[in-house]
Amino acid sequence: MADMDKLVSLCKRRGYIFQSSEIYGGMSACWDYGPLGVELKRNIKEAWWNANVRDRDDMVGLDCSILMHRAVWAASGHEEGFSDPLQDCKACHQRWRGDDVTGGKCPACGGELTEPRMFNLMFKTFAGPVEEEAATVYLRPETAQGIFVNFANVLDTTRKRLPFGIAQIGKAFRNEITTGNFIFRCREFEQMEIEYFVKPGSDDEWFKFWVEQRYNWYINLGIKKENLKLREHSKEDLAHYARACTDVEYLFPMGWSELEGIANRTDFDLKQHAEHSGRELTYFDPETNERYVPYVIEPSAGVDRAALAFLADAYDEETVKGETRVVLRLHRDIAPVKVAILPLSKNEKLVPKAREVHTAVRKCFPSMYDDTQSIGRRYRRQDEIGTPYTVTVDFDTLEDNAVTIRERDSMKQIRVPVAELAGTLQRKLDGEAMEVLPPGGRYWSGFEEES
Ligand code: ATP
Repeated sequence: MADMDKLVSLCKRRGYIFQSSEIYGGMSACWDYGPLGVELKRNIKEAWWNANVRDRDDMVGLDCSILMHRAVWAASGHEEGFSDPLQDCKACHQRWRGDDVTGGKCPACGGELTEPRMFNLMFKTFAGPVEEEAATVYLRPETAQGIFVNFANVLDTTRKRLPFGIAQIGKAFRNEITTGNFIFRCREFEQMEIEYFVKPGSDDEWFKFWVEQRYNWYINLGIKKENLKLREHSKEDLAHYARACTDVEYLFPMGWSELEGIANRTDFDLKQHAEHSGRELTYFDPETNERYVPYVIEPSAGVDRAALAFLADAYDEETVKGETRVVLRLHRDIAPVKVAILPLSKNEKLVPKAREVHTAVRKCFPSMYDDTQSIGRRYRRQDEIGTPYTVTVDFDTLEDNAVTIRERDSMKQIRVPVAELAGTLQRKLDGEAMEVLPPGGRYWSGFEEES
């Protein structure tokens, strides 16, 4: 399991994640994704979108605006009830979320705490030039409500039949009282949410289906089984409108915490919006000739929390020839760079050949070219950022037109003709074992020791 400090340091050193506004002292609970982080995040979102939208007949996507009519948040209950109890320590002045405090004492210094007061987590601003109450708008605290208020639009335009779902990925904002734990709890973050509409009565079955689907999604992307578990909420823990809720929990560096929540929200949201807007938000079932309000199953995940789980799970240290090798064993679909092309040295004959190989490979996969420092250090750098395969161009390449592929996890190497390179890399990225050779390929000892 990764130590949080090591992970934060690697993310900064290698360009995964930076503190927001760092040169001005930093903006608490806001993070910037660097050149590798942005690719990681895109890959996570794409894997989620492919699994849940593109690969399914019963799902469509949506991209709503972040600013919505204030009435949305009155109807959803957020304006009234999306709050956490806030307590201040009278001695050290630290702020705490009531549910994080036990025994009424400050967890930091043991001092006396103020009475809890409810604090709404929505960020408020104004639409238009006048800063007055009537112009108040909120930055959305979740993407879900955009889906509910577009239910009729999507139904009318797609003619979907139940059961079907609407998926959305986008930014959400919460003025969290306590932050920390890196990107686990941010004030600005991204969500990946599904509202899956079903016939009442079939909801328990669909709830189970989605819990299983979502658990398997993480496992299929390489999360270790021992670090992932499902936690069912007890009846007392449930929100008043929910019939069931199960969290997918991950063993983060600070302990087991929620990675994603799957809830059976019944017909609560559609009914609330129908009542507040005066619009009918029902479904006409052509099979039974009935009209009813669908129930909804909501799998709600966070992109940033998923990124933290994938990074923490992938982080590994091992000793190779007396030295520590840090390696991010990221699943190949998630890894920001799939292939790095490394000429053995900056030699004037090698560089053009390596550039030529890179030009061919980058058309097929996100790839990187690197000719700085020794080959050993470049291997280590690629291991640390999680690149599954590196390709070395050496002096023999100029004679035999073949290159060496090295696998990140096993450090095994094979030599393949340049003409076979893209095809071989594609098969390896699809899961083929390193031992399988293309025509003209052979096993290879490698350049590791030449660093
Ligand atoms: P928590 O109890 O940790 O505050 P929550 O139960 O309020 O989370 P939900 O409202 O269920 O969270 O949000 C769904 C998902 O959105 C969470 O599982 C998480 O992945 C993500 N998420 C929620 N709040 C944050 C945040 N402040 N920073 C990063 N991700 C978040």
